[in-house]
Amino acid sequence: MSELFPQTRYQRRVTRQLHVGDVAVGGGAPISIQSMTTTKTADVEGTLQQIYALAGAGCDIVRCTCNEQESAEGLAHIIPRSPLPIIADIHHQYRRALEAMEAGVQGLRLNPGNIRRPEHIKAVALEAKDRGIPIRIGVNGGSLDPELYEKYGGRVTAEAMVESAKRELAYFEEVGFDDVKISVKASNVALMIDAYRLLADTVDYPLHLGVTEAGPPPAGLVKATAGMATLLAEGIGDTIRYSLTADPVEEVRAGRWLLESLGLRERRGLDLIACPSCGRAEVDVIDVAARAQEALTDLNIPIQVAVMGCVVNGPGEAREADLGIAAGRKRGHLFVKGEVVKVVPESEMVESLVEWAQIIADGGVEEALRRKDEGAAAEAEADRMALLDDKGVDANHAEERIELIRKLD
Ligand code: SF4
Repeated sequence: MSELFPQTRYQRRVTRQLHVGDVAVGGGAPISIQSMTTTKTADVEGTLQQIYALAGAGCDIVRCTCNEQESAEGLAHIIPRSPLPIIADIHHQYRRALEAMEAGVQGLRLNPGNIRRPEHIKAVALEAKDRGIPIRIGVNGGSLDPELYEKYGGRVTAEAMVESAKRELAYFEEVGFDDVKISVKASNVALMIDAYRLLADTVDYPLHLGVTEAGPPPAGLVKATAGMATLLAEGIGDTIRYSLTADPVEEVRAGRWLLESLGLRERRGLDLIACPSCGRAEVDVIDVAARAQEALTDLNIPIQVAVMGCVVNGPGEAREADLGIAAGRKRGHLFVKGEVVKVVPESEMVESLVEWAQIIADGGVEEALRRKDEGAAAEAEADRMALLDDKGVDANHAEERIELIRKLD
């Protein structure tokens, strides 16, 4: 199999460490993936169903809203049955935080813009300290303390957001509580990046990254990725959440893809690559790739699979993939690490990929290579040569275009 956890080149920022249940955050721990349930927390069965779906997708920590007493009561039922540690999201009422701790949550998130009375903040911190529960100071550009908003000229700035976090920290320090992580989220990506950079220079607490209210995919995905990937590549960030207007399972998948593609988490699921298609393509690559993605995702196998439009260049271009298929002359050439192992009819391309992915999952690349059809390589080469004869070496007509370009002079 391909290297599952390539050595990351990013020097991680040194932070303290805390634990949300049994998940370590900061201090060199793997970057954790969070999401948030969209159900009413009082709906115990519905919320648990969603939590199980999130866990299955690779979520590490889940957040549930705790905005009314019924939510806290729901948490009391949910927590003992949850496969993931739960953080209660507290809105305006500090009492909900006390209730959530009573229910057994493994973490709290407080928004300093919403709970502003020092005695309330300190009461929550004291209780969290006694119970050993970490708190995230979750500053949000959209709900900044109005006083800070005014102080910084009626604008949300990186400095204002960091000051909000520091004020909350000061209250915590007064009662000797430091089991803290911090976020300074904004929906404006540039602002969010500035705020996290400033915060990272100011404190050594673990940081929770996110672009808030990023919106629906694909634009929301791009915005959130732009913000978080920039910071992660600078070593900033210890836990992440995609805030998408979508099924929260999509948030978790995006989080895993981001961390896996940066080499910051071990690959857990499928990595499907596909060629962009060109004048050589012998099949509708978009359609085959979409069907392959759907068929293979459910297998949850940590391999890289390539779907390539032609047998002339496909196996070579994707020779690093664990498994791949390339189209040619109404057939599919299956290859493992660039070596053709079987030639199948075009109509069976996707099901053959699934079959061979399972062989690799069960016995590794070596087993797949051991099972290769002896005649496959020769058959594949014959198809390849025939296509080269049909279309020549310049199927994309690049030389013709170059001629036209030169005539313009
Ligand atoms: S040469 Fe073949 S594999 Fe490469 S982009 Fe074109 S169709 Fe895809």
